[in-house]
Amino acid sequence: MSDDLYQLILLPTWLVPVEPAGVVLLDHGLAIRDGRIARIAPRAELLALAASEVRELPGMLLAPGLINTHGHAAMSLFRGLADDLPLDTWLHDHIWPAEKTWVDADFVRDGTALAIAEQVKGGITCFSDMYFYPEVVAELVEATGMRAQITIPVLDFPVPGAVDIEAALCEGLPLFEQLRHHPRIRMAFGPHAPYTVGDANMLRVRDLAREFGAGIQMHVHETAAEVSAAVQETGERPLARIARLGLLGPHFQAVHMTQIDASDIALLQASGAHVLHCPESNLKLASGFCPVEQLWQAGINVAIGTDGAASNNDLDLLGETRTAALLAKAVSGSATALSAHNALRMATLNGARALGLGEEVGSLEVGKAADLVAFDLSGLAQQPLYDPVSQLIYASNRDCVRHVWVAGEQLLDERRLLRQDEAQLLATAQAWQVRLAPTP
Ligand SMILES: [Zn+2]
Repeated sequence: MSDDLYQLILLPTWLVPVEPAGVVLLDHGLAIRDGRIARIAPRAELLALAASEVRELPGMLLAPGLINTHGHAAMSLFRGLADDLPLDTWLHDHIWPAEKTWVDADFVRDGTALAIAEQVKGGITCFSDMYFYPEVVAELVEATGMRAQITIPVLDFPVPGAVDIEAALCEGLPLFEQLRHHPRIRMAFGPHAPYTVGDANMLRVRDLAREFGAGIQMHVHETAAEVSAAVQETGERPLARIARLGLLGPHFQAVHMTQIDASDIALLQASGAHVLHCPESNLKLASGFCPVEQLWQAGINVAIGTDGAASNNDLDLLGETRTAALLAKAVSGSATALSAHNALRMATLNGARALGLGEEVGSLEVGKAADLVAFDLSGLAQQPLYDPVSQLIYASNRDCVRHVWVAGEQLLDERRLLRQDEAQLLATAQAWQVRLAPTP
């Protein structure tokens, strides 16, 4: 390829780079070379360039791909299996027994493939996974062209695929070395929660994360009961314990955080740790409300996640972002909380930063990987159109996702998956339904 030849030029009606904040570029586009954003310029300037492909995207808004910072991908096969139950009952009486019976490498392969397809169709270009058989997830991410952070599961009791932490690490640690230079996969550690991981294993995770320069993602302060039980038993809040054990830092990703006091804010601020907000899971399990606006005002990086499909029940990050924007206003009592532009930033650049990928993705900037989504805003329900970002967050759903690229490679074209077979995914999911619930 000649130095002057671009791989692809995209010409949307609106381009929202996310960085700088709040900007909407009209009649601009971008040029891609070697999977990276090589140029952002007015339409006329780009049309003068030589490119292998030039694509007009009329009525579309081009934005950075959405980043789903927290989920349990394979749990898509448990979608709708046990609903309308409190977290404790849901986990102990339904999810953990079902996992014990059903989860093996095949389950993870089929469930993760379904989750990846759903996410790509919803404009997600990067997801984080906290589940079992990380080597199987890595194979699928590689094969589907997706981008992901994959965590090694750490719990104090046996889990599918690993009888104890030694087995889990024995399976998982080689992946750090094997995938060290992978352009789209980043390995991390996923200690489940403060109440399922004791001090010894916490320290093990701390040391390994330091050794590998890896992230740590953990459910923290998901419910008031979790925090009050810990305080009653030990006199210490779970986040304070995590800090005392030396795990907090810019590599630490705290999922949920519905319970936050002034001491927690101070710890998050001082450490540079990230909060991964999962509003729909918190609403469905009645877990509590994360005070997003308060965290945002305190300068703490807040990103967004769908959580697993068993507790949400979809992996719809655009819908999740709308919920987050609405909920932030209700929780803070202020209609100015989490504007549409900030909500989109939370679903893109903040997510990238939380996963340690802030230099690579999350915004449309020259040099970053071309992880892109084209949203079609030409529908009746989106007219008239005064502010395309407002329309995207408050008046659109994920069906408006038309095209998706990861590292410059197209994964979705006119809503059609290019790297996965949708009919086969449907048949496989239905076969699992028959196995898990043979009688309707
Ligand atoms: Zn979760």
